[in-house]
Amino acid sequence: MKIVVTGGSGMVGKSLNKIMPDAIYLSSQDYDLTSERGVAQMYHELKPDCVVHLAAKVGGIIDNINKPSTYFTDNVLMNTLLVEYARHNGVERFIGILSTCIYPDKAESYPMTEEMLHQGPPAPTNFSYGYAKRCLAVQIDACNKEHGTNYQYLTPCNLYGEHDKFGENSHFVAALIKKIHEAKLAGEDKITLFGTGTPLRQFMHSNDLAAIIRRCIYENVYDSFNVATEQNVSIDDIARTAIRACKADGMRIEYDATKPDGQFRKDVSTDKMKSIFNDFKPTRLYHGIGSTYSILQQTWKQTT
Ligand code: NAP
Repeated sequence: MKIVVTGGSGMVGKSLNKIMPDAIYLSSQDYDLTSERGVAQMYHELKPDCVVHLAAKVGGIIDNINKPSTYFTDNVLMNTLLVEYARHNGVERFIGILSTCIYPDKAESYPMTEEMLHQGPPAPTNFSYGYAKRCLAVQIDACNKEHGTNYQYLTPCNLYGEHDKFGENSHFVAALIKKIHEAKLAGEDKITLFGTGTPLRQFMHSNDLAAIIRRCIYENVYDSFNVATEQNVSIDDIARTAIRACKADGMRIEYDATKPDGQFRKDVSTDKMKSIFNDFKPTRLYHGIGSTYSILQQTWKQTT
């Protein structure tokens, strides 16, 4: 089976590459997937049997707030074109990736199950990204219903890993590890974090999501489901865990409550995932952050 991975140069793509090296990994340098010409050319040249669609316009809260149109348009274009051209080209398998931040900002009950995706608008801080990603779920379900395809989507919680972005526009855990590292180097005993520290998050190592994607392909799983850890912990607890995992015991945390917190909670149910892969054990946060930091320390040492 010829497998093409869009977004292969991103964090999840690099995790997948380690365990599925025979697939073809694409970046935006290979094809611009927001353009119909780019998507048509990709399918024509590569003729995949299976597409793992990771490519997306992804970013932090501030960038999402500042560029809502870009987040909506880029994601809607990429998703719409990739699924539609997959169908027209007779692609057998298509795995789209959503995100738990597209679930309702406020739900009637937690953790949210797969059926609750459309029961309320996404958080204002990533409203347009949220709706764009929801459209991918709608499109895949509609395509299966009308055209008899067997496409699927996975909805992962927040992710982290050594291939995350560590500069501008980084995600929470990546920014946290970098702050702790820099404070250690500067001999400081405190870090400052945005918001209040109270929001709750599920964080998963990107290697764990990659493992689930691979298992779906090789164990013939076609269901759409949430991919998350059961650990739903406060930002403050995550920061304290990271301080221990990065061997910075004693470091204090200060919160800048003038900055936005983002969605308060968005924990999703893992029942469906566990019913499919009942032996799956995601990496514990302490170990995942610890191993990420060890790898990063080596990388950062080599680049300084
Ligand atoms: P990432 O590191 O930001 O990588 C994004 C990938 O998309 C890169 O390979 C990028 O290529 C590619 N891309 C962006 N615009 C493109 C375009 N116009 N044409 C072709 N390729 C384009 O993303 P990630 O963190 O690995 O996320 C992978 C998937 O998981 C995404 O669908 C994301 O929404 C989802 N997800 C992520 C998280 C998270 O916390 N990171 C959480 C839940 C779900 P270049 O390298 O060339 O720019």
